[in-house]
Amino acid sequence: MDLGKLIQERIRDIPDYPKQGVMFKDITPLLADHVAFAGVVDAVVNHHGRGTIDKIVGIEARGFILAAPVAYHFGAGFVPVRKKGKLPSATDAETYDLEYGSETIEIHLDAFEPGDRVLIVDDVLATGGTARATAELVRRGGGEVVGLSVLLELSFLHGRDKLGNLDVHSLVTV
Ligand code: 5GP
Repeated sequence: MDLGKLIQERIRDIPDYPKQGVMFKDITPLLADHVAFAGVVDAVVNHHGRGTIDKIVGIEARGFILAAPVAYHFGAGFVPVRKKGKLPSATDAETYDLEYGSETIEIHLDAFEPGDRVLIVDDVLATGGTARATAELVRRGGGEVVGLSVLLELSFLHGRDKLGNLDVHSLVTV
């Protein structure tokens, strides 16, 4: 099975969503295909190797769907990064510009033990603002960011350029 080809077949383009002029990559057909979904989770876990990561950070909302099974298969803990106002305990926050609009994301202040090795997982790397803000929150919280894994990288938006020397692993790049 060519996983990259399968992933591309299962992601569909939605024009003008969530606003005019944006071509949104919809991953719901991929999630609904158990072979594609499991293949994605296995590919992320195999890239890094079990036992090398303490915590997986998932970014609301689609990042959660991928990050939770990755954490399970790694034998790592799961830490949510959420939109402002959604986490119940004390938080740290970052605000950044998005491909469409601006966003504030938060993480619990006590999410990490000092030196935790952390992998960030999300569905799409677009302009890189979300990933950069998340990496910043992890570092401030005492974690060591060992990498970012995404299903799909939109290379024409140059998200990687915002991420310095972070190890970025994308299963498919368009
Ligand atoms: P960035 O901050 O890199 O511009 O945007 C990435 C974030 O926005 C990710 O959390 C991702 O879920 C969401 N996002 C941006 N564009 C798309 C898209 O075309 N498809 C999907 N599924 N998510 C997107």
